Amino acid sequence: MADDIFVIGAGVGGLTTGALLAKEGHHVRVLEKSSKLGGRTASLMYKNHILDNGFHIMPFYKKSAIFEVLKSIGIESRLKLAKVDNIAFHSDTGFHKYPKGMGDLLRLSLIPMRSRLSLLKLLLPMAFTSIEKTEEWDDKSLTELTKKLDDDTKAFFEAVCMLAFADTADHISLGEFARTIIRANPFKGGTSEFAYPDDGGYDSISNVLADYILEKNGIIDTNKHVKKIVISDSKVTGVMTEDDSFFPTSCVVISYPAYIALNQLFDDGVIDKKFIEKINRLDKKTAVVEVHFALNSKIDSRQVVFPVGEHYTTKGIFFISNITSSVSPPGEHLIIAGTPVDPSVADDSQKIKQIVQSMKDEISSIYPDFNSSLLWERPMAWKLVESVVKEPGMVWKSKMPHQIPGIEGLFFVGDSTVSYGIGTDSAAHSSILCQPKIESFLQTSN
Ligand SMILES: Cc1cc2nc3c(=O)[nH]c(=O)nc-3n(C[C@H](O)[C@H](O)[C@H](O)COP(=O)(O)OP(=O)(O)OC[C@H]3O[C@@H](n4cnc5c(N)ncnc54)[C@H](O)[C@@H]3O)c2cc1C
Repeated sequence: MADDIFVIGAGVGGLTTGALLAKEGHHVRVLEKSSKLGGRTASLMYKNHILDNGFHIMPFYKKSAIFEVLKSIGIESRLKLAKVDNIAFHSDTGFHKYPKGMGDLLRLSLIPMRSRLSLLKLLLPMAFTSIEKTEEWDDKSLTELTKKLDDDTKAFFEAVCMLAFADTADHISLGEFARTIIRANPFKGGTSEFAYPDDGGYDSISNVLADYILEKNGIIDTNKHVKKIVISDSKVTGVMTEDDSFFPTSCVVISYPAYIALNQLFDDGVIDKKFIEKINRLDKKTAVVEVHFALNSKIDSRQVVFPVGEHYTTKGIFFISNITSSVSPPGEHLIIAGTPVDPSVADDSQKIKQIVQSMKDEISSIYPDFNSSLLWERPMAWKLVESVVKEPGMVWKSKMPHQIPGIEGLFFVGDSTVSYGIGTDSAAHSSILCQPKIESFLQTSN
């Protein structure tokens, strides 16, 4: 293979694909427009703390697609993972243990026994069904199932929506929800545990993958903004960057949201207009307002607390220093509080201020020492959490395909493309699904 394979974007999607291809002996060149690796998971140093782009955890721990990629290239020992399993709900009646399995559900003190039984009746058959069967429920919303439940049980579902990046239960497809429940079922080979890099910073995952690509003689260029992919006679012939450099190649993998890339990188007429319109329908953003708080005392030893109840703005309190102490300097403690919002709120500084104040008031009501321990706060709002909202009908199979029929040498990965899972897990899963397609193209083009 004479050509470099060009990967556009150094997020989890681009780097997992790059690493899988490098393992097979291909020469990979990653072009990243930013100065950092990690894409949406990039971290930064602030007042000696490692801050993520909002709260990030790895769903399914060592059963995640990310871990599967690391294992398949033989470098899983390089990513030390801290387990995230000390999770609780907080309601007006105090703290309640988060259920890790069906047995815990029976003991879930958050809701009355009658509600626990109806919850089990719903979740048990779901957890033991097949992934294929869940596809029959892809057009239904989770609320179709939960609407007949009592308010206590509905509150449970609303609280766990935060973990599926959905603002409300009617924004999650029932099929997608069921797949998550199956993957969390240990009797089906899954796990309900989460993980976070022990060295601090979710971008440790990207750094481990990038190091591997470099060891395999790949190249990673940061500050390289791709402006065009050149296609001649329906074949990829090269990549052009903003500084007008041209890189000849017959194989390009685009790893950032396809509904943006398709509208940016191609000359008019190269991609069928109707196809672009279809993919543009995926452009439905989830948004969050989150605040990092640094404290000078430890106000809880739990790792995650979900406040439950309609009166709470705060939907999650994440005690990052309790997951790993490496994120903070000695004597200081980092937490993040977050809530999903309508995307319009993410542009409204007044509303963000109000939300932050409500979150501070609520955290103080749960933890009376919060205000006196607070050293600083750093709010942020994000409009693109996951590239495809898992609305009913908009599930994994209806995402952007990994290839466009009729165009040779062009591939798409990342969380906007066909894959199941949540966030970074779906970005890595897309790479697992796409890599064999790239290999097959490379074999036939040689
Ligand atoms: C606040 C927040 C919280 C989240 N929480 C979680 C969580 O807890 N767990 C989880 O699994 N997921 C979480 N996610 C989602 C997760 O971050 C994304 O699903 C995942 O990072 C997507 O990876 P990707 O590689 O598909 O895309 P990206 O990370 O977006 O990577 C694309 C890369 O392409 C680069 N790029 C774009 N255009 C160009 C160009 N023209 N030329 C060169 N480079 C370009 C970008 O700079 C970027 O680095 C969260 C996201 C946010 C924002």
